[in-house]
Amino acid sequence: MVLAELGSSLANALTKINRASKIDEKTLQILISDIEQALLSADVSTKLVERLKANIREKLRLSELPAGVDVKRVIEKVEITNLLDSKRKAYIPKRGKTNVIMFVGLQGSGKTTTCTKLGYYYRVRGWKVGLVCCDTFRAGAFDQLEQNATKARINFYGDRNEVDPVKIALEGVKRFKEKKFEIIIVDTSGRHKQEESLFEEMEMISHAVVCLVYPLHQKKKKPNDTILVVDSTNGQQLEAQAEAFRKRVDVASVIITKLDGHAKGGGALSAVAVTQAPIIFIGVGEHINELQKFDTQRFVNRILG
Ligand code: GDP
Repeated sequence: MVLAELGSSLANALTKINRASKIDEKTLQILISDIEQALLSADVSTKLVERLKANIREKLRLSELPAGVDVKRVIEKVEITNLLDSKRKAYIPKRGKTNVIMFVGLQGSGKTTTCTKLGYYYRVRGWKVGLVCCDTFRAGAFDQLEQNATKARINFYGDRNEVDPVKIALEGVKRFKEKKFEIIIVDTSGRHKQEESLFEEMEMISHAVVCLVYPLHQKKKKPNDTILVVDSTNGQQLEAQAEAFRKRVDVASVIITKLDGHAKGGGALSAVAVTQAPIIFIGVGEHINELQKFDTQRFVNRILG
């Protein structure tokens, strides 16, 4: 079921409920079951749907609902919106300082494209931005980032002949830091699956960058921001993906890509629930300027119709 259909089926269910003169237990049961179907069709994981259902049941006390209440709004407010409003606040880069932003994600998720999009986002707002390509795994990653960076007029560091991504990260971040770049984006390798070697590499890059940026502050163990890029078309798999990344690096923010297509955004709800990290941007196309700030309400409306 595509999102539009999902939205309309849920909207129908909710309209029915809203029109009902009295919301009794049976009507509520039907509503919850409709919501369950809609969320599952939108790729929200089964586990999360169960949790949401239980929460809706617990918080939606029939006896306390005034007549004519907009149940749809209540549900949005009660659960989905709460879930997306992660407890953790998104990292806000500081002007005039070195802000290292590391990107992680599976191959094909849109990580490299999104690195340039985010770099462009900051560059056009007057920040000094540098991109570091540590993806030594995928053939063509270097050329892709270099081409994109040139198009976006962003400084770029990579080394076609170096096979050790940690060395590239160290050198790239060092150079940009010396030149007082404010936003340093580090693109790491993506693999097809959650492979052990990928996670080890990611951890090493993360530690290396930290030692370089904060040599005297040994307590710091992570870049300023670590962004997990997830492909909305991966649907149900996003929960396991996010969990695998969360276990190994401190995922501080999430960007969902490919929301311009027929993608069902629900899987991203699971990614947020697992990482407890806020969604900061969404990718809505292949072009450099097709990155939008995440808007919770719009996203909820997209899922619930
Ligand atoms: P990586 O392997 O994670 O670095 O993925 P890439 O950045 O190479 O992206 C994989 C494919 O997804 C490319 O064809 C990108 O153009 C495409 N892509 C990335 N983000 C988006 C998006 O928001 N919308 C669409 N439609 N395509 C995207």
